[in-house]
Amino acid sequence: MIAIHFEADSASYIRPDGSVDTQDLINRQYGGKIGIWRLLRILDRHEIKCTFFICGAAADRYIEAARAIAERKHDIAGHGYYHEALWRLTRDAEEEVFTKTLGTLERATGRRPLGSRSCAASPTTLHTAAKMGLAWDSSMWNDDYPYLLDLGGGRTLVEIPFTINNDINFMGGGITPPAYVQGRFRSAKYSLEAWKAEFDACLNDPSGKPKMMTFCVHDYLTGHASNSKSFDDFLQYAKDDDRVWIATYSEMAERWRELCRNSTHSIDNFSISINASPA
Ligand SMILES: [Zn+2]
Ligand SMILES: [Zn+2]
Repeated sequence: MIAIHFEADSASYIRPDGSVDTQDLINRQYGGKIGIWRLLRILDRHEIKCTFFICGAAADRYIEAARAIAERKHDIAGHGYYHEALWRLTRDAEEEVFTKTLGTLERATGRRPLGSRSCAASPTTLHTAAKMGLAWDSSMWNDDYPYLLDLGGGRTLVEIPFTINNDINFMGGGITPPAYVQGRFRSAKYSLEAWKAEFDACLNDPSGKPKMMTFCVHDYLTGHASNSKSFDDFLQYAKDDDRVWIATYSEMAERWRELCRNSTHSIDNFSISINASPA
């Protein structure tokens, strides 16, 4: 499953004194102006559909890119308005972020997103996602496969967990400004190797079943020339293996809902009930 985080400068780093880190801001703008288009062209060439997790502010600031994503029929999902840390917010404020983000994406692309991801979820994020009518969420890091959540009151949500296996590899383990300042970048080749290693390990999992690989890159990181070449090469590597299903998140969520409904043996393994009611 291929995800692109389209964040551009919506998640710019704020220094502890409250000021904007302008170097970080400028670097991220590259993603909205240039990087996102380069990634779209690569996907066009491979004829691969992927899921774009889009920050509301990125869609507002770079609306042509948001429209181009929709025109190409890629899957569209929410990623906060300013990439908020939801755990810092009250439940009402969290709902406002969802409402604003989903509304912005719907206006910009003409489509209502079916899912969303937060990189900093709160204890109520899954409930909020279900309340907003989303079919799936991808904010958890806690499983190899999706699972169907029963959130009570007739609300269900497919959770598609993700992993740290992404283009943060380019940044030597962090995407915060010290990585830029200290020059802790690794070569694009390093990431390609890491992605291929994960891909091979997922296919040859010791359980005997292939493992889901969630893989994600960013407009402002992988959108650069040599990094995007690694992305390009990785797509070719994955495509060349006919044991692989390259799915969007919405396709996977739909498929998993069917599997859980029809299967009597796997549903226990993959379903989790959240018993604690949110405060
Ligand atoms: Zn991201
Ligand atoms: Zn994120």
